[in-house]
Amino acid sequence: MNHQRVYLFREGNASMRDLLGGKGANLCEMTNIGLPVPPGFTITTAVCNQYYAEGGKLPDGLMDEMRVAVADVERLMERTFGGSSRPLLVSVRSGAKFSMPGMMDTVLNLGLNPTTIAALIQETGDERFVYDSYRRFIMMFSDVAFGLSKHGFDEKIFADFKRKVGAATDLDLTAAHLKEVCELFLAHVRTNAGREFPTDVWEQLALAVEAVFKSWHNDRAIVYRRTEKIPDEIGTAVNVQSMVYGNAGDDCGTGVAFTRDPSTGEKHLYGEYLMNAQGEDVVAGVRTPVPISELEKQNPSVFADFVRVCNLLEAHYKDMLDLEFTIEHGKLFMLQCRSGKRTGPAAVRAAVEMVHEGLITKEEAVNRVTGAHLDQLLHPRIDPAAIPGATLLATGLAASPGAAVGKAVFDANTAAELGGHGGAGQAVILVRDETNPDDVHGMLASKGVLTARGGKTSHAAVVARGFGIPCVAGAEALTVDVHSKRFTVGGTVVSEGDTITLDGSTGAVYLGALPLIEAEVSGHFGELMVWADSLRTLKVRTNADNPRDAQQAIEFGAEGIGLCRTEHMFFEADRLPLVQEMILTKDEAVRQQMLDRLQVVQQTDFEGIFDVMEGKPVTIRLIDPPLHEFLPNYDQLIRETTELKVRMDLGQSGLESQYAEKMKLLAEVEGMREANPMLGLRGVRLSIVFPGLVVMQTRAILQAAAKLIKQGKTVLPEIMIPLISHVNELKVVQSQLEAEARKVIAEQGVDIPYQFGTMIEIPRAALTSGEIAEYAQFFSFGTNDLTQTTFGYSRDDAEGKFLQRYVEQKILPRNPFETVDTTGVGRLMRLSVQEGRSARPGLKCGICGEHGGDPESIAFCHEIGLDYVSCSPFRVPIARLAAAQAAIRARMTVSTLDK
Ligand code: ADP
Ligand code: MG
Ligand code: MG
Repeated sequence: MNHQRVYLFREGNASMRDLLGGKGANLCEMTNIGLPVPPGFTITTAVCNQYYAEGGKLPDGLMDEMRVAVADVERLMERTFGGSSRPLLVSVRSGAKFSMPGMMDTVLNLGLNPTTIAALIQETGDERFVYDSYRRFIMMFSDVAFGLSKHGFDEKIFADFKRKVGAATDLDLTAAHLKEVCELFLAHVRTNAGREFPTDVWEQLALAVEAVFKSWHNDRAIVYRRTEKIPDEIGTAVNVQSMVYGNAGDDCGTGVAFTRDPSTGEKHLYGEYLMNAQGEDVVAGVRTPVPISELEKQNPSVFADFVRVCNLLEAHYKDMLDLEFTIEHGKLFMLQCRSGKRTGPAAVRAAVEMVHEGLITKEEAVNRVTGAHLDQLLHPRIDPAAIPGATLLATGLAASPGAAVGKAVFDANTAAELGGHGGAGQAVILVRDETNPDDVHGMLASKGVLTARGGKTSHAAVVARGFGIPCVAGAEALTVDVHSKRFTVGGTVVSEGDTITLDGSTGAVYLGALPLIEAEVSGHFGELMVWADSLRTLKVRTNADNPRDAQQAIEFGAEGIGLCRTEHMFFEADRLPLVQEMILTKDEAVRQQMLDRLQVVQQTDFEGIFDVMEGKPVTIRLIDPPLHEFLPNYDQLIRETTELKVRMDLGQSGLESQYAEKMKLLAEVEGMREANPMLGLRGVRLSIVFPGLVVMQTRAILQAAAKLIKQGKTVLPEIMIPLISHVNELKVVQSQLEAEARKVIAEQGVDIPYQFGTMIEIPRAALTSGEIAEYAQFFSFGTNDLTQTTFGYSRDDAEGKFLQRYVEQKILPRNPFETVDTTGVGRLMRLSVQEGRSARPGLKCGICGEHGGDPESIAFCHEIGLDYVSCSPFRVPIARLAAAQAAIRARMTVSTLDK
């Protein structure tokens, strides 16, 4: 273990973030590459832990080590801490491994006392500057060490004083004024801290260092770590650094800047500064800061210097940086640098341009962009230029990404009437307290969904994400009044027909229509994706049930359909009655009639999809869900029949035939009820009990294929049988379907390059993959069901009842429905691929569960050698990126092993 507790800036480097914190490590790095960094030292994060381990006490000997370090700084600065001439003042700055709002505020100008004040006035001849520094020091120090709020000083005493003497800003105050302010501040400390303000500079230093450690466990910091999943154990470092003064006159100043525009990524300096100011003045808004471009006019030589430093730092870190600097009498000092936080568009543009500039490789560029970054580009977003002037109504949860503009409507039927998807085609936004399954048709017709209640896994959120509709959930400031068709928030009333704008990526809700920028697939984004494609080996397909989604996915780079769910086509209004009749009838002839009619519509559906997907494989899953999902709701029927019966008993007439009909339906629905439909008559089992259905589907698929082939198109249908647990199920169904396929081919007189395969979504199927592969021409892992059946969870029940608690209590490392459980479910997948491929070499294996769009799961799919992943259209680019990142990582691991 390393016992050095204090590191001079020249002794550390950027790789020591664990020990020195982010700020400290980068101060060291900048020092060592020769940049103008005021000298100082860092007390390690280990000391923070030791402080707590010893019950909140600075460890023995620490002060001695600090004295040695201070002596070093004194030597470099040719100044003395607490000295009566050329005094050294320092700042005390917290800095954990991760940048953390909520930690202690920085103390500046530490080391001022009557002796050093006199000395500094004598040295500089600038009394005003010295008292300006002193009033800042008293305020910041008392805030962190004595818990006296800054506001008490700044917004009360200081503001009152300025008002009294008629000063508009701090710049209007004279030295005498500031001296008086310091007296008032010291009196405030005396009355409220129960002690005098410390004059011993070593006591000042010890108290400030201790305050940093204490702030690690203040409420704000704890809450922040919880939400950001930062461990409590890492502790914070403390940086003690000699002061440079941005407040020593008009040739001084302080500022913050990004080396590139953090919202667009454009390569130009982006930032603000203030002349004659110190520390947080720029961000605290004491005066209006000036754009960094002004510095070029105001002080060209300092600006040139700064540009040189920025270029040097970018070349060194090979990243876009966020910088803090101070100018003292025309000389530039660097006080902080870190990787700049950026939007998705900025991340992509900066990465691509850095490759062009020769700063980074294509691999590095691909690695640097995250799925969350791409997500921001793949949905329409609000033009950032419009946001400053917009009226923000409320902020809820960012439940489903993308922005939407539309007229507020308050019930699903109105949304369906006015909206898209068969309605009048207007842009509407459905606003509800919360949504439920009865609202789905209205959600589908809406551009966006806004709810006042519910979390990120509420009905609205889950459904909206599923359909790719932007959604803001749980905007609690809203009071939704469905009956008067309006909502109120603050003093604003939004009625039906009023236009609002949602940003499902940030949770913001705005009044009126803001301009949107459409999703991008070209430019820098396109270029990055070309690199990703050249690096990856996994193919990326999409889950799509209709030509529109398929088209969208192709635009996003999908190389095929990995899952087309045929039953979704059955839910459409013109088809559901046919399906119900087909299920309920006892008359085989009627059933066949319904099947024939359904075949016609299904064939048209498939023609549309094959047409869009020309030349690319299309995996179509035969009917999967339990049949009762297509029938009227049982509980609802009970309620309706009961109500009719009561009304009849009360003497109402003319209800008899309606009642009889409903009772008949009830009996039929009851007859089909299952105790556990998820494990009941569904999937391949349904095909065995009702063979007519899948025979019809196979015919519809192949006839559609034949039609397009005759038009000269290439069609590659892959027919997939769901929910196999025993090879014999596959044998029975597949031989039936093969027979039908041969018939169609003979009738049509064309060759159709179809394949039959199966889903692996039950452990028994995974465990017997060798047997199954003798029949199946391909495997597709249905990891949603495979996760349910491996864990023995029903997803809906688990997510609603206990899964969150399991994750919180670390019983499960994460939600296995979001990221593949590699040790359990993943082990089955790995085994299945191996045994399947030894029975049938080159067996094509893919994944079509929602995990196919999750970057970590994609990395696992790469590792076990799947051929492709399949995900929803909007996640296709994210999957392409993740597949490339997985390939890069795998190559790196191999090459390090080689060494
Ligand atoms: P944060 O972590 O909140 O960014 P910092 O420790 O970076 O806090 O301090 C905030 C600001 O205080 C800096 O941006 C800088 O302007 C000023 N500051 C800190 N240390 C010094 C110093 N040694 N000399 C001059 N200004 C300093
Ligand atoms: Mg800072
Ligand atoms: Mg399934």
